Amino acid sequence: MPRLLPLVAFLVCLMPLRSEESMPLLSLQVRVHLMQSATQPRLQATLDEAGVRAILREANAIWAQAGIRFELEAVGVLQALDIAPKRWFERDRNWVKSVIPTNEFSPTAIDVCFVREMGPNGFFYGEPVVVCEMPEFTKVKGGSANPVARVLAHELGHVLFLKHRQDHTNLMASARNGTSLNNQEIKDARQRALQILQQMPLP
Ligand SMILES: [Zn+2]
Repeated sequence: MPRLLPLVAFLVCLMPLRSEESMPLLSLQVRVHLMQSATQPRLQATLDEAGVRAILREANAIWAQAGIRFELEAVGVLQALDIAPKRWFERDRNWVKSVIPTNEFSPTAIDVCFVREMGPNGFFYGEPVVVCEMPEFTKVKGGSANPVARVLAHELGHVLFLKHRQDHTNLMASARNGTSLNNQEIKDARQRALQILQQMPLP
Protein backbone atom coordinates (compact mmCIF):
# COMPACT_ATOMS: atom_id res chain seq x y z
CA MET A 1 0.00 0.00 0.00
CA PRO A 2 2.67 2.60 0.87
CA ARG A 3 4.16 2.02 -2.60
CA LEU A 4 0.98 3.40 -4.14
CA LEU A 5 1.25 6.70 -2.31
CA PRO A 6 3.66 8.45 -4.73
CA LEU A 7 1.40 7.43 -7.62
CA VAL A 8 -1.69 8.79 -5.85
CA ALA A 9 0.13 12.04 -5.05
CA PHE A 10 1.21 12.30 -8.69
CA LEU A 11 -2.35 11.82 -9.96
CA VAL A 12 -3.75 14.37 -7.48
CA CYS A 13 -1.15 16.89 -8.72
CA LEU A 14 -2.26 16.29 -12.30
CA MET A 15 -5.97 16.83 -11.65
CA PRO A 16 -6.07 20.65 -11.34
CA LEU A 17 -3.84 20.98 -14.41
CA ARG A 18 -6.25 18.94 -16.49
CA SER A 19 -9.31 20.97 -15.47
CA GLU A 20 -7.47 24.24 -16.15
CA GLU A 21 -6.68 23.03 -19.64
CA SER A 22 -10.30 22.21 -20.43
CA MET A 23 -11.63 25.29 -18.59
CA PRO A 24 -9.21 28.22 -18.92
CA LEU A 25 -9.57 30.91 -16.25
CA LEU A 26 -11.78 33.84 -17.29
CA SER A 27 -11.05 37.08 -15.41
CA LEU A 28 -13.62 39.86 -15.17
CA GLN A 29 -12.98 43.27 -13.64
CA VAL A 30 -15.08 44.62 -10.78
CA ARG A 31 -15.25 48.21 -9.51
CA VAL A 32 -16.52 48.50 -5.95
CA HIS A 33 -18.36 51.56 -4.63
CA LEU A 34 -18.89 51.96 -0.88
CA MET A 35 -22.09 54.00 -0.58
CA GLN A 36 -22.09 56.98 1.76
CA SER A 37 -25.07 58.95 3.03
CA ALA A 38 -25.33 61.37 5.92
CA THR A 39 -29.13 61.45 5.72
CA GLN A 40 -29.90 57.75 5.11
CA PRO A 41 -27.93 55.57 7.56
CA ARG A 42 -29.22 52.39 5.86
CA LEU A 43 -27.19 53.31 2.80
CA GLN A 44 -23.94 54.04 4.65
CA ALA A 45 -21.49 51.18 3.97
CA THR A 46 -19.08 50.36 6.78
CA LEU A 47 -16.68 48.13 4.84
CA ASP A 48 -13.14 49.25 4.07
CA GLU A 49 -10.86 48.13 1.25
CA ALA A 50 -9.41 45.23 3.27
CA GLY A 51 -12.96 44.03 3.98
CA VAL A 52 -13.89 44.31 0.31
CA ARG A 53 -10.82 42.29 -0.68
CA ALA A 54 -11.67 39.58 1.87
CA ILE A 55 -15.25 39.35 0.54
CA LEU A 56 -14.05 39.20 -3.06
CA ARG A 57 -11.58 36.45 -2.12
CA GLU A 58 -14.47 34.38 -0.73
CA ALA A 59 -16.69 35.09 -3.76
CA ASN A 60 -13.82 33.99 -5.99
CA ALA A 61 -13.46 30.77 -3.99
CA ILE A 62 -17.12 30.07 -4.87
CA TRP A 63 -16.65 30.96 -8.56
CA ALA A 64 -13.45 28.90 -8.89
CA GLN A 65 -15.66 25.87 -9.66
CA ALA A 66 -16.58 27.62 -12.95
CA GLY A 67 -13.06 28.86 -13.73
CA ILE A 68 -14.24 32.46 -13.38
CA ARG A 69 -12.42 35.08 -11.36
CA PHE A 70 -13.40 38.64 -10.45
CA GLU A 71 -10.48 41.07 -10.17
CA LEU A 72 -10.77 44.30 -8.21
CA GLU A 73 -10.25 47.17 -10.67
CA ALA A 74 -10.75 49.84 -8.00
CA VAL A 75 -12.58 50.54 -4.75
CA GLY A 76 -13.88 53.96 -3.74
CA VAL A 77 -16.61 55.75 -1.84
CA LEU A 78 -19.72 56.99 -3.61
CA GLN A 79 -22.03 59.63 -2.20
CA ALA A 80 -25.69 58.69 -2.50
CA LEU A 81 -28.06 61.20 -4.08
CA ASP A 82 -30.15 63.00 -1.51
CA ILE A 83 -33.59 61.66 -2.39
CA ALA A 84 -35.89 61.17 0.57
CA PRO A 85 -37.60 57.78 0.52
CA LYS A 86 -41.30 57.50 1.00
CA ARG A 87 -41.83 55.56 4.20
CA TRP A 88 -42.77 52.34 2.43
CA PHE A 89 -39.94 52.71 -0.07
CA GLU A 90 -37.17 52.79 2.50
CA ARG A 91 -36.13 49.18 1.97
CA ASP A 92 -37.13 49.03 -1.64
CA ARG A 93 -34.58 48.09 -4.32
CA ASN A 94 -35.96 50.60 -6.84
CA TRP A 95 -35.42 53.41 -4.36
CA VAL A 96 -31.90 52.16 -3.51
CA LYS A 97 -31.08 52.03 -7.22
CA SER A 98 -32.44 55.53 -7.78
CA VAL A 99 -30.11 57.09 -5.19
CA ILE A 100 -26.94 55.65 -6.76
CA PRO A 101 -25.29 58.09 -9.19
CA THR A 102 -23.80 56.47 -12.27
CA ASN A 103 -21.09 59.00 -13.08
CA GLU A 104 -18.40 57.01 -11.22
CA PHE A 105 -19.29 53.75 -12.93
CA SER A 106 -16.55 51.99 -14.83
CA PRO A 107 -16.72 51.50 -18.59
CA THR A 108 -14.37 48.54 -18.26
CA ALA A 109 -15.66 46.75 -15.16
CA ILE A 110 -18.79 45.38 -13.46
CA ASP A 111 -19.91 47.99 -10.90
CA VAL A 112 -20.74 46.70 -7.42
CA CYS A 113 -22.19 48.98 -4.71
CA PHE A 114 -22.28 48.05 -1.03
CA VAL A 115 -24.97 49.46 1.25
CA ARG A 116 -25.48 48.81 4.96
CA GLU A 117 -29.05 47.54 5.03
CA MET A 118 -31.88 47.00 2.59
CA GLY A 119 -34.99 44.88 1.95
CA PRO A 120 -33.43 42.29 -0.37
CA ASN A 121 -29.94 40.92 0.43
CA GLY A 122 -28.78 42.09 -2.97
CA PHE A 123 -30.04 42.77 -6.46
CA PHE A 124 -29.01 43.10 -10.07
CA TYR A 125 -31.34 44.13 -12.85
CA GLY A 126 -28.92 46.01 -15.02
CA GLU A 127 -25.97 47.85 -13.53
CA PRO A 128 -25.04 48.14 -10.76
CA VAL A 129 -24.91 45.04 -8.59
CA VAL A 130 -26.02 46.13 -5.10
CA VAL A 131 -25.04 44.10 -2.04
CA CYS A 132 -26.21 44.61 1.52
CA GLU A 133 -23.70 44.27 4.38
CA MET A 134 -26.29 42.68 6.70
CA PRO A 135 -27.96 39.90 4.69
CA GLU A 136 -30.44 37.48 6.22
CA PHE A 137 -30.20 33.80 5.36
CA THR A 138 -31.37 30.30 5.96
CA LYS A 139 -28.19 28.27 6.35
CA VAL A 140 -27.74 25.07 4.35
CA LYS A 141 -25.29 22.21 4.90
CA GLY A 142 -21.90 22.99 3.39
CA GLY A 143 -22.97 26.59 2.66
CA SER A 144 -20.75 29.66 2.66
CA ALA A 145 -19.55 30.92 6.06
CA ASN A 146 -19.39 34.47 4.68
CA PRO A 147 -22.95 35.68 3.98
CA VAL A 148 -21.93 38.93 2.25
CA ALA A 149 -19.56 37.05 -0.08
CA ARG A 150 -22.35 34.62 -0.88
CA VAL A 151 -24.69 37.51 -1.76
CA LEU A 152 -21.99 39.01 -3.98
CA ALA A 153 -21.31 35.64 -5.66
CA HIS A 154 -25.08 35.12 -6.19
CA GLU A 155 -25.57 38.58 -7.75
CA LEU A 156 -22.53 38.05 -9.97
CA GLY A 157 -24.34 34.89 -11.08
CA HIS A 158 -27.20 37.13 -12.25
CA VAL A 159 -24.65 39.36 -14.06
CA LEU A 160 -23.63 36.16 -15.87
CA PHE A 161 -27.30 35.61 -16.80
CA LEU A 162 -27.96 32.79 -14.32
CA LYS A 163 -31.53 32.55 -13.08
CA HIS A 164 -32.82 31.51 -9.69
CA ARG A 165 -32.85 27.80 -9.00
CA GLN A 166 -34.41 26.85 -5.68
CA ASP A 167 -32.30 23.80 -5.06
CA HIS A 168 -31.24 24.52 -1.47
CA THR A 169 -27.51 24.04 -1.85
CA ASN A 170 -27.29 25.96 -5.12
CA LEU A 171 -25.63 29.36 -5.45
CA MET A 172 -28.68 30.65 -7.31
CA ALA A 173 -31.22 29.76 -4.59
CA SER A 174 -32.71 32.83 -2.89
CA ALA A 175 -32.01 33.71 0.75
CA ARG A 176 -29.86 30.64 1.43
CA ASN A 177 -26.11 30.28 1.64
CA GLY A 178 -25.48 27.39 -0.76
CA THR A 179 -22.65 27.76 -3.26
CA SER A 180 -22.86 24.94 -5.81
CA LEU A 181 -23.38 25.32 -9.55
CA ASN A 182 -24.39 22.56 -11.93
CA ASN A 183 -22.63 21.85 -15.24
CA GLN A 184 -25.20 23.75 -17.29
CA GLU A 185 -24.89 26.83 -15.06
CA ILE A 186 -21.10 26.69 -15.34
CA LYS A 187 -21.36 26.43 -19.12
CA ASP A 188 -23.88 29.32 -19.36
CA ALA A 189 -21.94 31.57 -16.96
CA ARG A 190 -18.69 31.01 -18.87
CA GLN A 191 -20.39 31.77 -22.16
CA ARG A 192 -21.73 35.06 -20.77
CA ALA A 193 -18.34 35.91 -19.18
CA LEU A 194 -16.71 35.47 -22.60
CA GLN A 195 -19.33 37.76 -24.18
CA ILE A 196 -18.66 40.43 -21.52
CA LEU A 197 -14.92 40.15 -22.14
CA GLN A 198 -15.44 40.61 -25.87
CA GLN A 199 -17.84 43.56 -25.43
CA MET A 200 -16.01 45.55 -22.76
CA PRO A 201 -13.49 48.13 -23.93
CA LEU A 202 -9.94 47.49 -22.75
CA PRO A 203 -8.89 49.46 -19.62
ZN1 LIG B 1 -31.14 36.46 -7.00
